[in-house]
Amino acid sequence: MSVLRYQAFFLTVFYFSATVLCAQQFCLTRLTADDRAIDQRAFDEDSILYIYTVIHVLYQDSSQYIEDTDILAQLESVSRDLRRLNEDRDDTPSMFVSVAADCKIELCLARLDPDGQPTSGITKRQTNVREIGLTDRYYQTGLGGIDLWDPGRYLNIWVCQISEIGDIGGFAELPQNELTSAEGVVIDYRFFGEGNKALSPFDKGRTLTHEIGHWLGLEHIWGAKAGCDIDDGITDTPRQFDRYRGCPAFPQSSCGTEDMFMNFMDLTDDRCMNLFTAGQKDLMRNTLLSVRPGLVLSSCDEPTTAIVEFKSSQLAIPNPATTYLYLGDAKYDYLDLRDLTGTSVLTQSRGDLVNISALKSGTYLMLMKVKSKVIFQKIIKIP
Ligand SMILES: [Zn+2]
Repeated sequence: MSVLRYQAFFLTVFYFSATVLCAQQFCLTRLTADDRAIDQRAFDEDSILYIYTVIHVLYQDSSQYIEDTDILAQLESVSRDLRRLNEDRDDTPSMFVSVAADCKIELCLARLDPDGQPTSGITKRQTNVREIGLTDRYYQTGLGGIDLWDPGRYLNIWVCQISEIGDIGGFAELPQNELTSAEGVVIDYRFFGEGNKALSPFDKGRTLTHEIGHWLGLEHIWGAKAGCDIDDGITDTPRQFDRYRGCPAFPQSSCGTEDMFMNFMDLTDDRCMNLFTAGQKDLMRNTLLSVRPGLVLSSCDEPTTAIVEFKSSQLAIPNPATTYLYLGDAKYDYLDLRDLTGTSVLTQSRGDLVNISALKSGTYLMLMKVKSKVIFQKIIKIP
């Protein structure tokens, strides 16, 4: 079941995925059109996953400059949307309230830079490159942008001019089996934050909420293209023929059911979106823990992810592995190996060897608790 299905899903995404260009005006998605079954069970229902984040601001002049206070407000607003603490959650139609979810994901600004030096988690640079978001320069300091920080440890978000006319709100790099040099999310400065430079009706910070959804593997609510035979692969979002824009009155229907056009993964106005579903929550958390585990903190108060001390190369884990994981002199309080459904298959609290010879071949997630930190490492078991 689920492991194979889950892997098939990601393989499908990997092969078809690339950057998704999105705007509320239009969105150039190139996701798979397959109707997929996804294992929607989360690894761990209870823990809040905090994502270590850096914001890079690229501006040509003061009209594009973003103040730190606006950045903080934007991150808080995305976290509220992900936690279902958004003030407009009561606007969710009653028929969808039962599937609306607290995704238990939040964003935290980085406290240490890639060299281990204290940082605000915000970098800024004036550039003379027009429409830098449409080039491959935004993530390269030598070409007028700002170098991405290790995408295995940070979520990189660039705020810059994408298109001059402002018809593209942002785009995200979808989950792939390898971290890419452009890994992260890009938001046009006119769609970033609440009020101030953000232009109505996209001035409540939801462009970033939407793009984080893509970055964590979500498709648009109507699927990869218009039609009732195409779905987003999430069972608790109703089939929907196509996108909605503006702020439609509820109800609207297509494909025989009421449409969830107030979902963050539709393209309605910011003031008219207000929920992620439980199915979307589980896919986002599974993506985070399986594809991007090094970005996860157990608390915003943690100065950095501990993954830096336990990179797989330093752990000397043979990965893929057949019989043993060698942990070297890594110190840990508790180790828990889980399969992709979140089921614990092996635990131990001491020793530098983990005997995996009895496990079936497949992908596993190793969680190591070290003091107050939880470290994640993807493990591939082969015959
Ligand atoms: Zn989109």
